Amino acid sequence: MMHLRDLTVAPPGSWSFKDPTTGIRISATTYNDLVRNVQQFRRNNGITWEGSLGAEIQQQICGRLNAVDQVANCSGGLIPPTHRSVGAKDVMRFLSVMGSWVSSGGGFVEQEEAERRAAICAGCSFNVEAAGCSVCQDIAGNVAKVLGGRSTPHDAQLKNCGICGCEGKSSVHMPLDTLKAGSSGYEYPTWCWRRTR
Ligand code: SF4
Repeated sequence: MMHLRDLTVAPPGSWSFKDPTTGIRISATTYNDLVRNVQQFRRNNGITWEGSLGAEIQQQICGRLNAVDQVANCSGGLIPPTHRSVGAKDVMRFLSVMGSWVSSGGGFVEQEEAERRAAICAGCSFNVEAAGCSVCQDIAGNVAKVLGGRSTPHDAQLKNCGICGCEGKSSVHMPLDTLKAGSSGYEYPTWCWRRTR
């Protein structure tokens, strides 16, 4: 069950909870106030509940966040996205990655490391299809051409990263420092090979 990592920090969208029975949204300025307000609301309306009210509220808050915000704010049973939209921001990031890669002299990680990464991505719930702007997808997909004939045994399962939108078949071969140039602001899940802290 998902829960918030830090109850003292307001999650994206602030402290609010939509009561599933009535559809009414209840808000507060702190987590404790939200739990109190929801409890009061339910008592006033004769609504009963089972288990921890706080856990129910946290699960709902985490469930409405996008993948990036979920990873940044929640723990436990993250809900992966079904696809990742690739847009102008991704293209700019891609160009930044390529610029950094070229200026660092290019180079790829060892094949063994690429295969280790590919195996992790292949089993990752954030390894998803790209969708959206076709021109952007074409540009982002061009990174594959830079790789020459490099591949891994997991290529058939590699799609796009649901966090940053990177194309999996390519990124597993690139040095971490190069990839970092375009990944500031992204929080990767704990099992991700791109996570550096
Ligand atoms: S880069 Fe990390 S978060 Fe993205 S698909 Fe691969 S393992 Fe998952």
